[in-house]
Amino acid sequence: MNVIRAMHQVLYNSRVTMYECRDCGQNFSGGVTECLNCGSEEIADYELRQ
Ligand SMILES: [Zn+2]
Repeated sequence: MNVIRAMHQVLYNSRVTMYECRDCGQNFSGGVTECLNCGSEEIADYELRQ
């Protein structure tokens, strides 16, 4: 049961960093340094709470 509780804590307390291209607005969940859609290097990152 402790394992399940720990998994719930990870799922509900984890923060996810999202990345968004400043040029085309495409969103990425992984750590990208340039836009996979338009090739721009203007990537904004922000943190989300799940
Ligand atoms: Zn883009």
